[in-house]
Amino acid sequence: MSFKTLNLNKALQKAIDEAGYTEPTLIQQRTIPVVLEQKDVIASAQTGTGKTAAFALPILQLLFSKQDAPKRSKTIKALIVSPTRELALQIAKNFKVYGKHTNLRTGVIFGGTSIEPQKDILAKGLDILIATPGRLLDLHKQDLLNLDYVEIFVLDEADLMLAMGFIDDVKKIERLCPENKQNLLFSATIPYKVEQLAKTILNTPERIDVTPSSSVLDQVSQRLYYVPKRYKIPLCLHILKTEAQGSILIFRRTKFGVDKLYERLVEFGYKVERLHGNRTQTERQNALADFKRGKVTILIATDVAARGIDIDQLDVVINFDLPNVAETYVHRIGRTGRAGHYGTTFSLCSADEKSYVKTIEAFTNIQIPVVEDHPHPLDKNAKPIIHKKKGSKHKKGRKGQGSKKKKKRWY
Ligand code: AMP
Repeated sequence: MSFKTLNLNKALQKAIDEAGYTEPTLIQQRTIPVVLEQKDVIASAQTGTGKTAAFALPILQLLFSKQDAPKRSKTIKALIVSPTRELALQIAKNFKVYGKHTNLRTGVIFGGTSIEPQKDILAKGLDILIATPGRLLDLHKQDLLNLDYVEIFVLDEADLMLAMGFIDDVKKIERLCPENKQNLLFSATIPYKVEQLAKTILNTPERIDVTPSSSVLDQVSQRLYYVPKRYKIPLCLHILKTEAQGSILIFRRTKFGVDKLYERLVEFGYKVERLHGNRTQTERQNALADFKRGKVTILIATDVAARGIDIDQLDVVINFDLPNVAETYVHRIGRTGRAGHYGTTFSLCSADEKSYVKTIEAFTNIQIPVVEDHPHPLDKNAKPIIHKKKGSKHKKGRKGQGSKKKKKRWY
């Protein structure tokens, strides 16, 4: 199927050609015509399937048809609410790419950074606003943005929005928009809670499921390593030294875990960056930019910080900690093997995580191949290999680091 059959206008078609897209992805084929008919949509689609263009292109088309009105004042006509700053920035980037031959104005606002420049952006007037919930409500409270003219409301990554506790904010935002708007809800999976949320927002929506949440791409090779918890870092170093090649994304469950592994990899001479909720917005953006540019080859992240990040040609995903939610596993490994590329995933499973493997395998209906021949098996008699840093004596891990129990958000 070609993009031509979707009847997008010339300005959009030109941008699509320039982006090098030859045909619409499945989610785009199914979603674009429905959005163009101005119907509400609930779609289960993961990042990486082309879902941003699936809503951005028809939104641009619907708004484009009105842009020629003489000196039409810039009011927010499309509002896209996104759970994380990274995702919000990425969506905005996509809108700018696809809308570059239109004169529709796109802006993005998110928390964790100075509010002043965002006030200026809003004051200049926008057609399309991408926002994270907290900052949006903050600016609305200060009477700096008007949602009275919103015609299309998009809730992206709804499942993550709920997991991050944004449900009340989302409902509040939706109520600030006109009742008769068009509503689009995207979610990697549609669990019961998302369905309930959808019922409160959507109006007889069309349901689109293109990627069942349990599907694992064929071009992703999975490997499972059973390892004692305390030998996960040595095993990770072994994998990095012997098997993992190219651009590598490592997932850890906690921010502390990300920092700890980061320090060890830096000590061992790896070029590495990290992404988690305790880092400033600038640090996060720089980390991501350095990884995307190939300045560093390893990025360590928590799930929430990494959600939605689109990185071309990610070669390897390492699950340093196994997630206890099967969908998260699918989501993580779906970061590689995209757009026809091959990817490899390495999952490190300690004794206490064994039950997660069972849940994941039941969910995906795939038995993950186990690598038994490695230096740190989950076997009491096995003697671990101690990796030495180049040119220096091996330092023991700093005891007690991070042992202070802080009650903080884990993502
Ligand atoms: P998304 O799921 O929106 O994060 O998109 C994942 C990646 O696919 C992004 O890098 C997009 O630029 C790219 N993409 C989106 N639509 C297409 C398409 N029709 N053909 C090729 N690449 C696409």
